[in-house]
Amino acid sequence: MTPEDISSLRRLIVDVPDWPTPGVVFKDITPLLASADALRQVVDAVTEPYLGVGIDKVAGIEARGFLFAGPVAYHLDAGLVPVRKPDKLPRAVLTRSYDLEYGSNTLAVHADAFAPGDKVLIVDDVLATGGTAAAAVDLVQQAGATVIGIAVLMELSFLAGRAALPDVPVSSLLTI
Ligand code: AMP
Repeated sequence: MTPEDISSLRRLIVDVPDWPTPGVVFKDITPLLASADALRQVVDAVTEPYLGVGIDKVAGIEARGFLFAGPVAYHLDAGLVPVRKPDKLPRAVLTRSYDLEYGSNTLAVHADAFAPGDKVLIVDDVLATGGTAAAAVDLVQQAGATVIGIAVLMELSFLAGRAALPDVPVSSLLTI
C-alpha cells in the first residue's frame, strides 16, 4: 500500500475516548468496514504476505477478528476457525484463560478445529497488550497445530503487544 493509502485508512478509524471504560481510547473500525475500497485494500494487504505459504486454517478472534478472517481465509483457500468467548461453542472445546488489567478472559475453540500439523494464521483487528493473541497461539498449539503468523489491521505499539508474542511473526498494516 502507498503512504496515501495508509493515510486514507487511518482517517477511517475513529478514536472514541473513554469507551467502553474510562481511560480506553477505542478504535472504531466501522467506517473502514463500510468503505468498499478500504475493506478490499485491508483484506488484500493482510492476505498478501501469506499467499503461497500453505496456510490450512485462518483463526479469527471474536468478534471483530471474524470480519477480516472470513475474506482472508477465502483468499488463502484456507478453512476458518472462530476463536470464541466461553460458552459460545456447542461441542467439546480447548480453552485458555489470561489475565487482564482487571479480571481475566477466556478464549475457546472446538477441540477438533485444528488438525495436528495444520499451518495456522491468526487474524484480529487490534493488537494491544498481546494477551488475546497469545491465548489464541496457545489454543492452536494445544491442538498440535503450528502458528505461522498473527495478522492484525492495527497495532497499538505503546502497549508492546509484540513482546507478549516473542516466537511468532506479527504483521500489522497500521502502527499507532
Ligand atoms: P489485547 O489482548 O490487549 O492485545 O487486546 C486485543 C483485543 O482487544 C482485540 O481483540 C481487540 O479487538 C480488542 N482491543 C483492545 N484494545 C482495543 C482498542 N483500543 N480499540 C479497539 N479494540 C481493542
